[in-house]
Amino acid sequence: ANFMRVVVDVAGSNPEEGNRLEQDPRVGSELLCVVRAVLKKIGRKVLVGDRVLVGSVDWVDRRGMIEDTFMRKTELSDPPIANVDHLLVLFSLEQPRAEPFNLTRFLVEAESVEIPVTLALNKMELVGEEMLSSWETKLHSWGYKPLFCSVDRNLGLEALENILKGQTTVIVGPSGVGKSSLINALRSAPDTSDGEEIDKLQSEGHKWLGDQRVGIVSKRSGRGKHTTRHVSLLPLDGEGFLADTPGFNQPNLLKVTKKSLAQTFPEIRQMLSASEPSGCAFNDCLHVGEPGCVVKGDWERYPYYLQLLDEIKIREEIQ
Ligand code: GDP
Ligand code: ZN
Repeated sequence: ANFMRVVVDVAGSNPEEGNRLEQDPRVGSELLCVVRAVLKKIGRKVLVGDRVLVGSVDWVDRRGMIEDTFMRKTELSDPPIANVDHLLVLFSLEQPRAEPFNLTRFLVEAESVEIPVTLALNKMELVGEEMLSSWETKLHSWGYKPLFCSVDRNLGLEALENILKGQTTVIVGPSGVGKSSLINALRSAPDTSDGEEIDKLQSEGHKWLGDQRVGIVSKRSGRGKHTTRHVSLLPLDGEGFLADTPGFNQPNLLKVTKKSLAQTFPEIRQMLSASEPSGCAFNDCLHVGEPGCVVKGDWERYPYYLQLLDEIKIREEIQ
């Protein structure tokens, strides 16, 4: 069977009892849980981040069984985590230098997931004041309020932590911008107290699926053995979780369609909502100069929009 570590949210055998037991010391404790075999049979996967119903609890040995999973608010596939409710797009100002079209690709991919997006720019110590304010002005005109930080110099991290508070966040961005450095800067020390228990369960033939903190996706390595890629949710101080694995770093825009592309640009969303209730004359307007279109072409990223639209059209024609 699979097993997973679960943090107890509500203790007690039924919800009513649970509500009365908010001060119950069992709330917040961790249980190692096997996943009930029938869940696999009915094709139900348990993902890191899932809210689960645990039964057969042994509070002394801190064991239990995952009986059911609750409906997911969101489901991300890269990394596979349920109930992510915030994406942090991280770029660096220099080394590597943020490039507007590439940044747009990442923002479009992130917006297409339909989870709130925050944009942060790292390595701020490498550029001067003028550069910072010109980026700020530019990104404002794109519809974003960027955060500037330097993981190296410990600048701007407090503001970032405030934004992460109370949310489950995945960091995305190209390689080299400081995603892993940021995750390491924010993470608390790993909990290894269950190491022996976990080894024992594995030696009994159970497969380590993950927990609130550590999940694993099995992957065959070149030598034919199973290796594992960890997917983790690190609890942040003062509520919230951060995935300890960065998300997509190659935005392929495969989930973006000709029609949905416009919704991933805050500038277009703004123009459309300002024209309510009429909107564009055609319902399926792609905003490329159709008669009665309310999206004009006088904004910085319009050429990017057209370029991405072409790319998606070509892909849709091939399919
Ligand atoms: P990732 O590929 O996005 O995970 O990036 P890494 O976290 O591996 O960082 C890439 C490089 O950038 C490393 O050498 C880091 O030490 C460096 N780095 C991270 N943050 C900063 C920063 O704020 N300023 C500077 N100058 N370098 C940084
Ligand atoms: Zn239009």
